[in-house]
Amino acid sequence: DTAGMDAACAPLDSTSARLDPSRARPPQPPMSAARRALPIFEYMHDLADAIAHHPFLVVAGDTGSGKTTQLPQYVVDLLPATDFARVVVTQPRRIAAIAAASRVAAERSSPLGGPDVGFAVRFERRLAPDTRIAYMTDGALLRMCVRDPRLDAFDLVVLDEAHERSVDTDLLFGLVRRAAAARQSGPADSASRVHSASDTANDLPRTSSRSRRPLHVVVMSATLDVDKFSDFFGSCPVFSVPGRMFDVDIMWQPKGNLAHLASSRSAVPRAVSACMHIFTQEQPGDVLVFLPGQNDIEAAIRDLADRHAALRSTSGAQQPRIALLPLYSTLPTHEQRQIFEPTPRDTRKFVFATNIAQTSVTVPGIRFVVDAGLAKVKAFDPRTGADALVVTPISQADAAQRAGRAGRTASGRVFRLYSRQAFESMSAHPIPEIQRASLIATVLALKRLGVRDVLHFDFLDPPDPALVVAASVHLYLLGAIDEDGRLTPLGAQIAEFPCSPSLACALVAAATEFDCLDAVATIAAMISCEDPFAVPRSRGKQAEAEKLHASFHHPAGDPLTLLAVYTRWAKAEYSKQWCHDHFLHYRALKSARSVRDQLLDICSRLRVTPAAASNSRSDARPYPASQNPAKIVAALCRGLFMNAARRHPVRGYFTPYLAATAPASRSSGTSASGGKSSSAASLGSHLYGPTTASLMPLHIHPQSSLAPRASAADGSGDPAAESDIDWVVFGDVQIAAKAHMRGVCRIGFSM
Ligand code: ADP
Ligand code: MG
Repeated sequence: DTAGMDAACAPLDSTSARLDPSRARPPQPPMSAARRALPIFEYMHDLADAIAHHPFLVVAGDTGSGKTTQLPQYVVDLLPATDFARVVVTQPRRIAAIAAASRVAAERSSPLGGPDVGFAVRFERRLAPDTRIAYMTDGALLRMCVRDPRLDAFDLVVLDEAHERSVDTDLLFGLVRRAAAARQSGPADSASRVHSASDTANDLPRTSSRSRRPLHVVVMSATLDVDKFSDFFGSCPVFSVPGRMFDVDIMWQPKGNLAHLASSRSAVPRAVSACMHIFTQEQPGDVLVFLPGQNDIEAAIRDLADRHAALRSTSGAQQPRIALLPLYSTLPTHEQRQIFEPTPRDTRKFVFATNIAQTSVTVPGIRFVVDAGLAKVKAFDPRTGADALVVTPISQADAAQRAGRAGRTASGRVFRLYSRQAFESMSAHPIPEIQRASLIATVLALKRLGVRDVLHFDFLDPPDPALVVAASVHLYLLGAIDEDGRLTPLGAQIAEFPCSPSLACALVAAATEFDCLDAVATIAAMISCEDPFAVPRSRGKQAEAEKLHASFHHPAGDPLTLLAVYTRWAKAEYSKQWCHDHFLHYRALKSARSVRDQLLDICSRLRVTPAAASNSRSDARPYPASQNPAKIVAALCRGLFMNAARRHPVRGYFTPYLAATAPASRSSGTSASGGKSSSAASLGSHLYGPTTASLMPLHIHPQSSLAPRASAADGSGDPAAESDIDWVVFGDVQIAAKAHMRGVCRIGFSM
C-alpha cells in the first residue's frame, strides 16, 4: 500500500488516520506542563497516526523540539501494543542515549531498565527483554543486527540524529531497509536474503511470533535538509515539526580567513576573552561555549576560573558568581546531570562543550553562544597513514546549529570567533564520517553481517573505494579475512569484541600466544575508558599531580603506564581515597574495572584462552597474571602493527606501511571483496615501500610517558631533540598544530 507516499504528511487526513479506540492503551497519567510546552506536543496525534500508517517516515525538527524524548513515548502511549510493542531509538553518542533514557524514565516515573524505558550502550546496559523503549547507540544496535538481522526484537526503529551521519547510523540505514523488506516478504525464506553468509544462515530464527509483523522505521533529523533520507526509503513522507526560534544576533571577528582558523594553535584564549566580555558587558543569561576537545575544555575552565577570581579580588565580591561546567562525550554520568540543573540566582552558568551540544544534548537556558568554529573529528589521514582526531573548521550548517542554541528560550547572541569571510569559505555541510574515517571496523562489521561485497552495500553515500580497499588490506593483515575477502575464524572472534579490531586482535594474541591476557585486557579497558589522570584546578597542585603521575611512568610506554596505574589501584584494594591521593579519576578506574571484566568474560565465552591452559591447567585462576612487558608489547604489536612508526634522525616519526599504501591504493580500482588485490607479495612491497618524504611527521604526545621531560615544560620543542627511541607503536594520532601520537609504546623493549 503506497497510497499517500507522496503527501507531505503534516497533518494526515484525520478520518483515515484515527485509530480504533478500543485497541488503544489505557490512558496514561497526566503529562507534565514541561512536556506539553514542547513544540512537538501539538503534533502528538498526527505523528502517531503517521507512524502507524507509513512503514517509513522522516521527522525533521529543530533541536530541543522534543523529538528524541517525546516521539517514542507517543508511540507506546497512543498506538496499540499489539503492533508497537517495542521501540528502539538510536543515538550516535552514548552520553545522549543515557541522557534521553534517564529523562524519559524521570518523565514517566519509572525505573531505568524497567518495563517502560532503558538503554544499551557499549559496556553498559539497563534493559529488560520486554522494555518498551530502548535507547541504544547506533553501534550497539549494529552489533545486535549480527544476531537478529531482521530486527525481530523491535516493531519500530527510530534512527535519531541522522543528520550527524555517523558511520554506524549510515550502515543502519542499509540494514534497516533490508530488515523491513525481509519482514514484508514473510518470515520463512527471507532470512537468507538479509544474511547471505551460508555458514550462519542456519542459526537464524526461522519463525517467531513477532516476525510476521512489519518493521516500521522513523528517521529523525535536526535539519530540514532531509531529501536524501526520504529518497533512500522510497520517497517516504516527511513530517516537519516547526520550531520556535527567537532572533539571534551574530557577532563576528573583524579579520582572519579560514586558513587562519584552521591553523590557529588554540581557541582557548579567544574563547575565554569572549566569556569575560559576556560576563562584564552583556545582559544576564547562561553561556554555551563550543570548543574542539576535552583538553581545550579543561584549560578554558581553569583560565576562566582564574580570570574571574582575579576580577573578584580587584573589583570587590559584589561581582556575580559563575558556574563552570564541562560537557563532552566521556564525561561521567553524574557530572552530565549538572548541565540540566537550574542555575542558582546571581550566578552565570558557562557550559564548555564539544559539538555534542550542537544537536544531541540540549542545554537549557542558554542566551549566549561562543563558537570557536572548530571541531575534533575522526579522519583517516593519508599524510600520516593513520586514523587521527583532527581539529578542523566546522561547516556552515554546523555554525547555524550552534548559533541556534542561543535562541531557544529568548532572543540571544552568538560570538563567532572567526570572520564573516572565514564563514563564507566553510563547506556548506559536514562530510559524512563514512567518507573520511578509516573503515576497518566498518568493513569487519559488514563482513560479520554476511555482506560479502562491501563496495556494493546500500550506502546512503558510498565510501571512497580506496578506503574500503585499505581497510580490507588491513583486515587481511590482521588475519581477520582471507584472500577472498571471507571472514576467518579469528575475524569472527575479533568482531565479537566491543573495541577496535586492532585491540581485539591484541587481546586474542595475548591469550593464545603470549600468555598475558590479564594485562592486555587491563590495558584495553583503560584505553577504552576516560583518561584516568586528573589535572587539578589549582595551579599550585598541578606540579604535585605531575610528580605523582610520573611515578607510574613505565619505560616501555603509555600502555604499560596505564597497566601500572590499574595494578597499583588494585593493590590498594580499589580504593577511592587512593585515587584521590594520586590525582586519578576514580570513576575512570571503576569503569575500567568493569570493562576489563567484560572483556575477560567475552574471552572465556569465545574460548579465547591460553593454548596450554585447556588441558594442563585446572586451577581456579584461568589466566596467569603475566606482567612481562616484552610479552605485553609483543601482543599489542600483533594488533597495532599498522601503527608502527620509525624515527627519522631529524624530522620526527613516520609510519612505513600506510604511508606507502595510501596513495598507491587510490589508483587500484579493484573491488575490496572481489579479486585478489591483497596478495601477500604486493603487500610486502607496500610494507617496505617508497620514500616517506612527502608525509607528515609524527611526534610523541607531550603527555605521553615517553615524551622527554628534562628540557622544558613547553612540550613543543625541536623534533630532533624529542626522543631517542627508534621504533614505536601508537594507539592513535591527534592533529592540531602538529601530529601527536598517543598511547605510545616502545618496540624492542627488553628488561
Ligand atoms: P530534540 O530531540 O528534538 O532535540 P529532546 O527530546 O532531546 O529534543 O529534548 C526536548 C527538551 O527536553 C529539551 O529542550 C530539554 O529542555 C529537555 N530535556 C531533554 N533531555 C533532558 C535531560 N536529560 N534533563 C533535563 N531536560 C532534558
Ligand atoms: Mg534529539
